[in-house]
Amino acid sequence: MSAKLERFVSPGKGNGLRATAKIKRGEVLFSAEPLACCVANKQVRDVCHHCFIRHKTLLRCSQCKMARYCSITCQKQAWPAHKRECKCLWSLLPRIPTDSVHLALRLIFALLSPSKGSTGVLYTLEEHESHLSSMSEQKRQGLSQLASMLEMYLQQEAPGLAQEMMSALPPSCRDPLSLIAKVTCNCFTISDGELREIGVGLYPSLSLLNHDCRPNCVMVFEGTKLQLRAVRDINPEEELTISYIETLSLTEDRQRQLKDQYHFTCRCQRCDTQDKDELMLFGDKATWRLLKEALPRLERLKAESDWQALFENCRHLLSTVGADIPDENLYKLRMIDMALDASVHLGHWAEAMRYGEKTLPVYRQYYPDPHPVHGVQLMRVGKLKHHLEHVDEALDIFKQAYGILKLTHGDDHPLTTDLLVKMEECRSEIDQQSSSTH
Ligand SMILES: [Zn+2]
Ligand SMILES: [Zn+2]
Ligand SMILES: [Zn+2]
Repeated sequence: MSAKLERFVSPGKGNGLRATAKIKRGEVLFSAEPLACCVANKQVRDVCHHCFIRHKTLLRCSQCKMARYCSITCQKQAWPAHKRECKCLWSLLPRIPTDSVHLALRLIFALLSPSKGSTGVLYTLEEHESHLSSMSEQKRQGLSQLASMLEMYLQQEAPGLAQEMMSALPPSCRDPLSLIAKVTCNCFTISDGELREIGVGLYPSLSLLNHDCRPNCVMVFEGTKLQLRAVRDINPEEELTISYIETLSLTEDRQRQLKDQYHFTCRCQRCDTQDKDELMLFGDKATWRLLKEALPRLERLKAESDWQALFENCRHLLSTVGADIPDENLYKLRMIDMALDASVHLGHWAEAMRYGEKTLPVYRQYYPDPHPVHGVQLMRVGKLKHHLEHVDEALDIFKQAYGILKLTHGDDHPLTTDLLVKMEECRSEIDQQSSSTH
């Protein structure tokens, strides 16, 4: 834990973290491995369950057939933590636990294992909020089902042991329902360099961080290791904040999501002033509504990886109704982004580059502070430019990406290293061109 932050009581928000000294943007404030983590169900076939790195081929655990590893080394290192859950998992095959049940299961085994000390933890699991009292009945019921599922898995480890194991936990974590509630309220999504979701993890001290729709910190992962970095200069005693949700959305939608998922009403400055809402709704409402209404269908196509249909639908809508709507419009922007994804998957590079290029000036407006999403988007478009041999432009875009990634990811992150290699390639190609024309 950095010496520059401390726990405090944030007015109106409860527990929080604040700066104890001046912090420069780009500074790493915290770096930690999770207390427990697991690969998301959607990714189990593609990601190593130990190092959380994506691989084309993975070894499968011969017992549970669920855990997968990139190497024997990872499999061996994972075994102490996997041993007990493995038994639970294979006993209930072909059922698979939901991500939160799986995470809770791993958490219980981690808490029972003596190697997981809680040194330097600012905020223990006992103190984590479950929000059970402020929850809707419907949500509570959903959690109760998850709690029963958790108990069922625990029973598999050894019949009758579930009770005994629970009693070895800290008092406030013994009841499966409040444990599941704590896990769902406090877990973080672990993503890879390109910000694709890989899994979920618990980083207890960081659950102290409160939300802001324009936060002064971001979290970036390298494997399962989390780093908290400042994206603005921060003064002593200023509260440190992150965003719990995608910030590129309307105030009303952000507020609803925060209320549903995290049980609070956001009173940040962006929400107060409804900052950028007007810009996000630019254009004729009757027209952009057609785009808005088409989005859920397009998102389904994306989830099904039906790239051809997605590509054709986006292209059609963008060239007809979308033509009269400014690119700043949120619904149009989301559609352009999906068209970009589809074009990349289909190898339509020129179209992909055109769509990607359209998003850049808009991203610049919507991400006033360094943000991983903006850096990754720039890198994506830079790669397309490079691939299509627009080397000068590619280098220029890569430089902009670097301006962001060096602050959000740092120079040592594999994504930044990859970017620096790309920039070097561009420079040497430019040198070769100029020497061959002279
Ligand atoms: Zn691995
Ligand atoms: Zn296994
Ligand atoms: Zn807000």
